[in-house]
Amino acid sequence: MALRKILTEEDPALYRKCRLVTDFNPRLHQLIDDMRDTLGEADGVGLAAPQVGVLRRVAIVLETNVPEEDEPYIIELINPEIILAEGEQHEAEGCLSVPGEYGVVQRPAHVRVRAQDRFGEYFEVEGTGLTARCFCHEIDHLDGIVFKQKCERMLSQEELQQIEQDRDQE
Ligand code: ZN
Repeated sequence: MALRKILTEEDPALYRKCRLVTDFNPRLHQLIDDMRDTLGEADGVGLAAPQVGVLRRVAIVLETNVPEEDEPYIIELINPEIILAEGEQHEAEGCLSVPGEYGVVQRPAHVRVRAQDRFGEYFEVEGTGLTARCFCHEIDHLDGIVFKQKCERMLSQEELQQIEQDRDQE
């Protein structure tokens, strides 16, 4: 298990466009494994390679929209692209690179993503709700966009407290 340091919003690496992955080699696998460990440790729902200082098009997303008896699982996305987007949602988002701040972002309600897996094989995956937001949020990171840049508004202190109260009751 290897944890990587998560960069925070003042780091210029978060605002640069990431390059395509062309080598599906052990180094890539190590990066993805470290990102999985780092996301688990941070208790997040998504992480993009630039957040750990690697300017390559790699992201992972936790699929939480699973039947009750199943565990959430991580989807690994290499060179992901949104190939279909439908509807819209306006929900609060946060980011491991922007600790303690949340803001409302307009996102599609449903997306289909085409990506490669860690061995270079193409696949398609769909997401709704939180998963759709997460796909969009992580792919934005690969284009050097942090959610605050497209936020409709940031949540107030009272709203944040409400969210924390709700979470404590879970
Ligand atoms: Zn983020």
